[in-house]
Amino acid sequence: MQTDLFDVTIIGGGPAGLYSAFYSGLRHMKTKLIDAHPSLGGKMHVYTEKTIWDVGGVPPIKGEALIKQLTDQALTFDPTVVLNEKVTVITRGKDETFTLTTASGQRHWTKAIIIAVGGGILHPKRLEAEATLTKPATNLYHTMPTLTQFKDKRVLISGGGNSAIDWARLLEPIAHEVTLTYRKETPTAHERSVKELLSSSVAVFPQHAITALKTDDETGVVENVSLTHVETDDATTISVDAVIVNHGYEKDTSLLDESDLALERINDFYLAGTAEGKTSLSGIYAAGDIISYPGKVNLIAGCFQDAVNAVNQAKMYTEPEADRFGMVSSHHQELKEKTQKASELNDDKEE
Ligand SMILES: Cc1cc2nc3c(=O)[nH]c(=O)nc-3n(C[C@H](O)[C@H](O)[C@H](O)COP(=O)(O)OP(=O)(O)OC[C@H]3O[C@@H](n4cnc5c(N)ncnc54)[C@H](O)[C@@H]3O)c2cc1C
Repeated sequence: MQTDLFDVTIIGGGPAGLYSAFYSGLRHMKTKLIDAHPSLGGKMHVYTEKTIWDVGGVPPIKGEALIKQLTDQALTFDPTVVLNEKVTVITRGKDETFTLTTASGQRHWTKAIIIAVGGGILHPKRLEAEATLTKPATNLYHTMPTLTQFKDKRVLISGGGNSAIDWARLLEPIAHEVTLTYRKETPTAHERSVKELLSSSVAVFPQHAITALKTDDETGVVENVSLTHVETDDATTISVDAVIVNHGYEKDTSLLDESDLALERINDFYLAGTAEGKTSLSGIYAAGDIISYPGKVNLIAGCFQDAVNAVNQAKMYTEPEADRFGMVSSHHQELKEKTQKASELNDDKEE
């Protein structure tokens, strides 16, 4: 029985899903937003410390701050937000409404769907040596929350890609010492970054892998790390205060890979769609990195246009008489009232 039918349910709370949630609220749709992770923001959690320059009208901003701003905006019209739930199955009923089932067995009912799953659910790749830890290591990281927490620390970074190199260079002036290890002879990063890295004070262990983590029995803190040469097996032990592992991400794309829905895909991954946000199935729209159409831009800025289009399509699908486009902010009654309230609050503060 459909106990709680939503107008639109957005799967994925990255930039595309967040802006879709805002815009569907603006279009007076009863909205639900579901994400598999415990917090909203999507892929931006990979680069919370990076300064983002290319979002229109927003001054250079750290990833973490942009997540907050996008999330605040997404909650403007109080959508229902469901976190820690991975949608695994979508089925369409005889009455044309959809049922979404999650990995934990929850069911969610909706008239229309916006798929905004980006590159899927990202899980950081872990070291084999992590499997031997008896308790979670409190000083082992797979993303870098803040640079300052590594101030005056001895930091070991494992990884030879652009992010690992960037982290090493960012930490060099802050940490007591930075060591970088990677399996290849040379890092697979931009030539200029590698050049700058090699002329910096970062100690580099090419062709090495972390083979053991020695932890304090009581605290679980990693104190020493064994690095082994991938060809000669020569081992080196270094003392550390923190270890950062940047080996990329495993992508869980099971929803689309295993779904019975005949959604047309491109390169076995992306949803074949249109610039208006349509997929190959009516009632299911898409926005953000997951949709592919000629001219698609895989950037945060591209997510916003996708979201507006997907929401407008969902609106017209659920209410065929609805206007094709939503009202701009200045003509939107609820936003007018919110603006009025905000300016009254400001006046009160100034008095
Ligand atoms: C290192 C890096 C740096 C970048 N820098 C920039 C930059 O400077 N400027 C810029 O414009 N862009 C940048 N990008 C690109 C930008 O992050 C993406 O274009 C954007 O995040 C795409 O947003 P999205 O909402 O489509 O998907 P995502 O951000 O990938 O979000 C998808 C969400 O869907 C959830 N999800 C997936 N499957 C399910 C499921 N089955 N059930 C429930 N939830 C699910 C995931 O958990 C995730 O939260 C960068 C990307 C990377 C990797």
